[in-house]
Amino acid sequence: MLQSRAFIQTKKEAPKDEQSVNAKLLLRGGYIEKLASGVYTFLPLGFLVLKRIERVIREEMDAVGGVELLMPALQPKELWEETGRWASMDVLYKIKDAQGREFALGATHEEVITGIVRNRTVSYKDLPFYLYQMQTKFRDELRAKSGILRGREFIMKDLYSFHATEEDRKAYYEKVKEAYLKIFKRCGVSVLVAEASGGSFSKEISHEFQVRTPGGEDIIIVCSRCDWAKNSEIAGKRAGEQCPSCGNALGEERSIEVGNIFTLGTKFSSVMKAFFTDKDGTEKPMIMGCYGMGLSRLMGAAAEVNYDERGIVWPREIAPYDLHLIPMQSKDAAMQKRIAQASEQLYQKLQERYTVLYDDRDASAGAKFADADLIGAPVRIVISEKTLAAESAEVKPRNGATAKIVKIKDIEKELCPVIQL
Ligand code: ATP
Ligand code: MG
Repeated sequence: MLQSRAFIQTKKEAPKDEQSVNAKLLLRGGYIEKLASGVYTFLPLGFLVLKRIERVIREEMDAVGGVELLMPALQPKELWEETGRWASMDVLYKIKDAQGREFALGATHEEVITGIVRNRTVSYKDLPFYLYQMQTKFRDELRAKSGILRGREFIMKDLYSFHATEEDRKAYYEKVKEAYLKIFKRCGVSVLVAEASGGSFSKEISHEFQVRTPGGEDIIIVCSRCDWAKNSEIAGKRAGEQCPSCGNALGEERSIEVGNIFTLGTKFSSVMKAFFTDKDGTEKPMIMGCYGMGLSRLMGAAAEVNYDERGIVWPREIAPYDLHLIPMQSKDAAMQKRIAQASEQLYQKLQERYTVLYDDRDASAGAKFADADLIGAPVRIVISEKTLAAESAEVKPRNGATAKIVKIKDIEKELCPVIQL
């Protein structure tokens, strides 16, 4: 992609009304734009990151048998009344149409998915099945001060599983837990699995995936020795007390909840009458699990834990571009032409294997480098008069590792270990 055509504009300063690290970094890098509190546009750069996160999640969800669908955000009041959550869910956006009919804007989709499933004839032979979507959710969040970590409109992956037996649900729950760990690793955030309450419809324990960082809104009680962790809201333990798992003194840390998986059991299926016919011919409510993960929150969390004083340092798998290729200016017109030609050629070649942002702008070295740092692609490649004299380019990883001068013809070989393809 030519940078001059990419609709990218970085900012020297973050807007004064943004407090959070992720919002400052993403706004300065030209990734997002704020429309209202908790409502953001994903600009082309931000959308690229989101799509890469989406791809990682889709791969791992498909690997555990997930089947993707897309449900509506506009949901009739009557459906939400069946479970009582029209009245009890405080973050639910409620709207009225011109005929006076009431709707919720989907904050979550248990009601809708259970409504779909009960319309089908299901025998024990059809179970289990696993349905997921990646979709915009709406929540009327009171404290939307954390950039894209807490949107009032945000993007979530939600998976729902349906089982004939509790053992089967349990086994699948563990499988999804492992898939979540893979996703977070690939997205460059390290997580702790913390026990938490079961959410608005379940008394069971749920598991949260927590990224430890000062910018987090959650507080977890955590053992630094064995990684035992629990959300402080329900922990029944305090910092300084003994870890129930290993006896070490517990600490307290701020963290971001990037995912949450729940045991629903038959809570939704019995109330909403989503039944299956079991082996013995009797009708039983399906046993359910649900598994949420915020894509936009995960992007914000990745920024919160991968940056330096000059900008974001994207983890390789979710970077908007693999490489940032930068030709330098020269005062000498003939030399300028040579640099442009060599860069252009390299650009064409690298695009066979990588996604490349090519800084074709007429700008100073300082401006180009500052932008490259703010944008944070994993590797910067610079071609200048000096490097070209040795038929070389400078290859510099964004993670702080030292720059190397590499022969242009050897660049691909050199890049392999750097960006681990
Ligand atoms: P929180 O406690 O932070 O309000 P939650 O526990 O209500 O979140 P869940 O219902 O568990 O959220 O939603 C599943 C996932 O969706 C969360 O783990 C998080 O990654 C994401 N998520 C929830 N609320 C938001 C939000 N307002 N903005 C962005 N992502 C969100
Ligand atoms: Mg949660």
